[in-house]
Amino acid sequence: MKTKKQIYKEIKRKRIVGPIIFFMLMTAALGVGVYYVVKYFLEYTLDNKMTTEYENAGNMAEIYDAGSEGREAFKLLDKFGRSFFITDKNGKIVMQKGENTIGDEAKKVELKVFDTEEYITVYRDTKASAVKIGKDNKLHLDTGKLQKYLDSDEYADNYINVMIGDESMEIEDEEDLAPDYFELPVWIAIDVKNGSETMYVQAMLLISERDIIAFAIILIIMVVLVLVMMIMLLARTISNVHRQRKMTNFFFADTVTGGKNWMYFILRGEQLLCKRKSSKSKYAVVSLDMKKYRNYCLCHSIAEGEKLLQNVHEILKAEVDKKTELFAHGESSNFALILKCEDEDRLKMRVYELIKKLEKLDDDHRFSFQAGVSVLDMITNEKGHIVRRKSVNIEEEYNKALSARESMGDSDESGVVIFGDKLIEEEKWLDKVQEYQEKALNMDEYEVYYQPKYDPRTKELRGAEALIRWQSPELGFVSPGRFIPIFEKNGFITNIDHYMLSHVAVDQKKWLDDGLKCVPVSVNVSRAHFAEEDLAEQIRDIVDAAGTPHNLIEIELTESAFFDDKKAMVNTINKLKEYGFTVSMDDFGSGYSSLNSLKDMPLDVLKLDAEFFRGEESDGRGRIVVSEAIKLAQSLNMRTVAEGVEVKEQVDFLAGEGCDMIQGYYFAKPMPKNDYRSRIEAGKADPEELEEKN
Ligand code: C2E
Ligand code: CA
Ligand code: CA
Repeated sequence: MKTKKQIYKEIKRKRIVGPIIFFMLMTAALGVGVYYVVKYFLEYTLDNKMTTEYENAGNMAEIYDAGSEGREAFKLLDKFGRSFFITDKNGKIVMQKGENTIGDEAKKVELKVFDTEEYITVYRDTKASAVKIGKDNKLHLDTGKLQKYLDSDEYADNYINVMIGDESMEIEDEEDLAPDYFELPVWIAIDVKNGSETMYVQAMLLISERDIIAFAIILIIMVVLVLVMMIMLLARTISNVHRQRKMTNFFFADTVTGGKNWMYFILRGEQLLCKRKSSKSKYAVVSLDMKKYRNYCLCHSIAEGEKLLQNVHEILKAEVDKKTELFAHGESSNFALILKCEDEDRLKMRVYELIKKLEKLDDDHRFSFQAGVSVLDMITNEKGHIVRRKSVNIEEEYNKALSARESMGDSDESGVVIFGDKLIEEEKWLDKVQEYQEKALNMDEYEVYYQPKYDPRTKELRGAEALIRWQSPELGFVSPGRFIPIFEKNGFITNIDHYMLSHVAVDQKKWLDDGLKCVPVSVNVSRAHFAEEDLAEQIRDIVDAAGTPHNLIEIELTESAFFDDKKAMVNTINKLKEYGFTVSMDDFGSGYSSLNSLKDMPLDVLKLDAEFFRGEESDGRGRIVVSEAIKLAQSLNMRTVAEGVEVKEQVDFLAGEGCDMIQGYYFAKPMPKNDYRSRIEAGKADPEELEEKN
């Protein structure tokens, strides 16, 4: 499928190139047309005259051939009043009348008679060379010389009557006629006496003023015609280009900010970076985004949100150099920029300064902006000299900037990140995790660790949570905090959860068969599962396959999963409880509105998030919140597990508040299954070990 960019390029090419090619073709056609019209007119006129002259000379030759006696013929020929001479085979003159002004042999040409296959042998006249016979055997007018000749006395002396057929036209007043005609003298050679002699006759090509006027009129008409057509064509081309520009503006307009859009950024950006002037400067592509823009639109209105983006646009307009830099609005609150970058630190500072200005967009709010930067490498040749950039894939560069920006994750703080080796490493790492995830499952690289849960008062073992560990031969030890979010995104988490559940079931069954006093082990089930309608059945079947009693398995659901589809969720929880599993809510109090979910979900256990026991307020206000949460759980008939408890004071406090279990480093870190087995055997936490922690 064609991209928008390709379609645009195609339209642009058609619109601009079409009229220009048409204009050029028409101009060329008109030029050629004029050339041929003028040429044919000239040739026709000259050739026509030449043919007439040839006929006249032919008449003289006939008279000479017919005359029985040379003298008689001479008299007759004399009547024509033309210069001529006759030579014999050896070139000796046997008869002459008038002056011999013939050019030498080298000046001889064979002229083709217009529109016939006949040739006339023509010599140049040495005295008046107003006629030029070119290499192409064509007559060429030499108007300068012609004029000189016409002005000279020689012209007046040489003036000869015009011959038509074999009759001479008497001219009354030579002076009257003179200005109307230009004479172009040439010599015509004709064989006489069966070729034993040659007659040379001086011929006058007569060009009348009428001829010249006609020629001038034709020329003027042609020129005017050409000019009119060219003006029309030019007007058409200009209007096309104008329309094209209008269309381009429309195509490139951003409807929200009134500035330029993403398409413009892509096309113009490449031009800018490859331009001779800028192609040798260092540049960077920046992806800028306003955080929580959607929230702002929800709280205010979309129109208010768009106004905000218009203000961002105005600020960017003032900060970005119009000639050497570029920016455009993309989707939502995204802006794309191309900025000059002398060095990375300075650019980073500049973007920070820019963000500072943007943060104070309006007086009532404080906004935050994040920017990702991709610095374009300079292109060098073999000698290490910087050379001109030939092409840039703006989209690719923007994607780098985008992934740099996205590396800031869910943080809502303003920030600038430059795409660099660290990010590239991270992307590569991400690829590797996905490449090995499947193999790791088949090769049993994933291991189940157990983290015990103890009663804070009696210090008895009451349960455990199964946590995954991945010891990869290729990647080394990988923490679940790193790979679980990846698996959640790519869907592989489903396999992991099944794997964990079946291993826990098998382990529990084994310990039970070994006569140990087993306690329930909780398994995490990712929210990705809740799309499956038969989740409860799947869990039941996996546990049943190992033959493990259902009361030894607990299912941990994260609070965030409750948001997706409440009905399905309640349904699944009910089924799980029906089958005899315990269901707990993981990470209670970490972000989402939890109280509401408690109202609707028939859960057995509430796991208080580790966050309650961290930070400055964990001793003061935090304790009040924890105490109330425990009371709330109790009144809803739920048991409580406190997660991430590390110090004795917290354990004592939780014991006092009636918290049922503690899962934290104070009692035990997650451990391999054999270590956990020993913990089951012991049944109680080791007082000596606990004493050491005080
Ligand atoms: P979680 O389910 O909240 O697991 C508790 C995490 O807190 C575990 O990290 C555990 O080692 C850690 N922890 C427990 N007590 C303490 C303490 O006193 N101090 C501190 N600093 N940390 C403590 P872990 O094992 O790295 O797991 C991280 C997260 O990865 C888990 O959070 C869970 O969301 C996910 N995860 C781990 N295993 C699985 C699994 O098999 N399936 C699924 N879906 N997610 C899993
Ligand atoms: Ca958990
Ligand atoms: Ca948890």
